[in-house]
Amino acid sequence: MSQPAAQDDPRRAIPRTDALLALDEVAQARSRLAEAAVVDVVKAVTGRARRGELAPEEVAAAVVSALDSTRPSTQTPVLNATGVIVHTNLGRAPLSDAAVAAIADAAGYVDVELDLDTGVRSKRGTGTRAALLSACPAAEDALAVNNGAAALVLATTALAAGREVIVSRGELVEIGAGFRLPDLIASTGARLREVGTTNRTHLADYADAIGPDTGCLLKVHPSNFRVSGFTAGVDVRHLGELARSRSVPLVVDLGSGLLAPDSTLPDEPDAATTLRDGADLTTASGDKLLGGPQAGIILGRTEYVQRLAKHPLARAVRIDKLALAALEATVAGPIPPVAAALHADPQRLEARAETLAAAVGGAVVAHDGRVGGGGAPGVPLPGFAVRLPESVARPLRLGTPAILARVHDGATLIDLRCIPENDDARVADAVRAALAGQ
Ligand SMILES: *Cc1c(COP(=O)(O)O)cnc(C)c1O
Repeated sequence: MSQPAAQDDPRRAIPRTDALLALDEVAQARSRLAEAAVVDVVKAVTGRARRGELAPEEVAAAVVSALDSTRPSTQTPVLNATGVIVHTNLGRAPLSDAAVAAIADAAGYVDVELDLDTGVRSKRGTGTRAALLSACPAAEDALAVNNGAAALVLATTALAAGREVIVSRGELVEIGAGFRLPDLIASTGARLREVGTTNRTHLADYADAIGPDTGCLLKVHPSNFRVSGFTAGVDVRHLGELARSRSVPLVVDLGSGLLAPDSTLPDEPDAATTLRDGADLTTASGDKLLGGPQAGIILGRTEYVQRLAKHPLARAVRIDKLALAALEATVAGPIPPVAAALHADPQRLEARAETLAAAVGGAVVAHDGRVGGGGAPGVPLPGFAVRLPESVARPLRLGTPAILARVHDGATLIDLRCIPENDDARVADAVRAALAGQ
């Protein structure tokens, strides 16, 4: 077989790299993407054309379309079809539109520490503090920091460094990925004084341990596990009375971050009730059940919140302006996606699953959602899923949009609880494409 004559070679018609880089749309993409990423896209597309997978006249459009779907960060948006609401591997809480808009506003120069009226420096985070206090009137004061772990470290450092933190043995939990509360507290220079046993701790155990070296009492919500059977713990009300009578502060680590009670999760502690019951400080996480950005929320009595705010460590765990803006918008604004997913109506979930199953095939099955992120372990959230062959899970993850489904019992289960309803059509398209490519 002879090679085609050079002048007949269709590859000669493939646009040159420098001509493609000079296209208007490509120039625009260069303000959004790294130069190397743009060049990589151009080379990948021209490579396909040279291999005959693309006609030369299609190259320019293919470059533009590939650049459109190239992202400035390696983080790929994922549709969460697992039914797990606070999904640790997917960045925990998806933000509300209000929080996203607040982040966009705060992305440039912003008056985070400036009074535009007087032109002089102002205090950081006053709007977020006001939103938190309005959402949790039981708190006298509020402080937001980098995350829940930082809130706990700041509290134990400011109240108990060089002294003792009295805590029940049954609450010394690992909060995920090998991070253990006892290690975290020990790293602050406070000494842990463990009281009680793994399954039972009584008020007298705390009372006997309090002495001149006590920095604070600490109660931890053991988010991701539950001891059952012959157990006893001391509730916040009794601990609060003891703490007051002995003049030591009581800190309660809520973990998940409900500001007020939620009837869907009757056993999940919330900041308002905990403070009313007698805690001096509560610490919580912004991106668990609160449904906001990564943040640590400290609520409680002014005296203690201010002691934390003035501690030098507060500067090292300071929350950034983007999270500060998103936290305010989450707390003050419309209900965030996490709350919507938590309270999703099972009938509506079933109807959406039926529509999806009708579009792609597959059976609708009952499927419980979960709070996730260590919150409300063992609490099922009644719902539905579409059951598909197990082998479709990977193409779904690798598709556009990427979809993470639950692989269980030899099947792929698509649960729409954590997917905004207006994305249902995109899910159906992606599932059809993934099934077709099988
Ligand atoms: C998750 C959790 C934390 C840590 O909060 P982050 O926001 O993840 O830093 C602390 N304590 C408890 C009980 C938790 O569940």
